[in-house]
Amino acid sequence: MSNCPPLPAVEVPCRAATGLVLATEVRAAEDVPPFANSAVDGYAVVAASLAGASADEPVLLPVVGEVAAGASTDRVLRTGEAIRIMTGAPVPAGADAIVMVEDTERLDGGATVLVRRAVSAGDAVRGVGDDVRAGALLYAAGTLVTPAVAGVLASVNASPVTCVPRPRVAVLSTGDELIDDGSPLQPGQIRESNRTMLLGLVADAGCDAVDLGIVRDDEALLEDVLRSAADSCDAIVTSGGVSMGDYDVVKAVLSRIARMRWMQIAIKPAKPFAFGMLATLDGTREVPVFGLPGNPVSSLVSYELLARPALRQMAGHPAVTVDRPTVEAVADAGLPRRADGKTHFMRVFASFAADGRVHVASVGAQGSHQLAATSLANAIAEVPDGYGVAPGGSVRTILLSVG
Ligand code: AMP
Ligand code: MG
Repeated sequence: MSNCPPLPAVEVPCRAATGLVLATEVRAAEDVPPFANSAVDGYAVVAASLAGASADEPVLLPVVGEVAAGASTDRVLRTGEAIRIMTGAPVPAGADAIVMVEDTERLDGGATVLVRRAVSAGDAVRGVGDDVRAGALLYAAGTLVTPAVAGVLASVNASPVTCVPRPRVAVLSTGDELIDDGSPLQPGQIRESNRTMLLGLVADAGCDAVDLGIVRDDEALLEDVLRSAADSCDAIVTSGGVSMGDYDVVKAVLSRIARMRWMQIAIKPAKPFAFGMLATLDGTREVPVFGLPGNPVSSLVSYELLARPALRQMAGHPAVTVDRPTVEAVADAGLPRRADGKTHFMRVFASFAADGRVHVASVGAQGSHQLAATSLANAIAEVPDGYGVAPGGSVRTILLSVG
């Protein structure tokens, strides 16, 4: 995490800011609404003119003007008069309330109006600044720009806004056995899946995923791809080639060209993992490299635990939103395991139950190559070393998606 600080901020039009994190606080430069306006279609009045008005004793007022949204009127309203007004139109000077059209009857071709209800001063008037006050602190730095936040930014003319840009994250797969062109499988070949998955996961985390394809188990080729990725991207995610095999070229190349840390983590799946910093060609910058294991489920779990939080931090997320939410869930059918000195991250389906708690059940096959079962998981249960969780027992669970 300490190697993956937020990227330098940039100015972004508010319409392109959804999904980004604000790098600075935003104060409102303008009031919203900018002027007092009508909340309904109806008639602007002086509330006192309608004192005692009711269905039985309606009050007749002359209609002395009309104001539509986007227009305005210079006519100053006096007691005993009405001005026809539409939703969003400025409240005419002198008026202090709006009576809704449903409580009125238009007479004499619109020259007069019969009002069947009394109103109080302020009724159906949206006051200046009663959504946003000019000068108010709208958003702290670190706020995620949701579509609604972007709408508010637009409403106060806060465009462009200063945001952390989406990290550009290069994703590549390594392995001579991998194909992705749809051709018939030759002996020993498999279809590539991690890159397809990781491109989606990286995009889901709010990054720009850059597809660098499949790279053969060839050191020179891989070195070229990695070096140019460091030049054009903010982070690199590789899959495969980080364990103890003879053709684990990612390990061979990155050991030579980057400052790397090779790890065997006491977790299952996803034991082998590498993290390091790779310099750009001109040496002015270093780019983090996440070396994920090749087994698809291991790739996913190590991405979730070890890469995603760092990428989120680079995207500007504060500590509270860097990680997925976790809950203490109820393990419905139990989550048995054997003791092996590792924490097991079991893929589960989580749902809210009538008791108000999240309940989890295994999605089935838990092998690190069995992505199909894992693909049905919406959560990962963190099962500590030992013999697992008994039926009805409690287990800490990372929620991948909620709902
Ligand atoms: P490796 O980490 O390169 O030793 O690969 C471990 C296992 O994952 C092997 O069975 C590989 O064939 C498989 N594998 C590696 N990369 C991918 C990938 N991109 N898509 C699907 N399977 C992969
Ligand atoms: Mg390999």
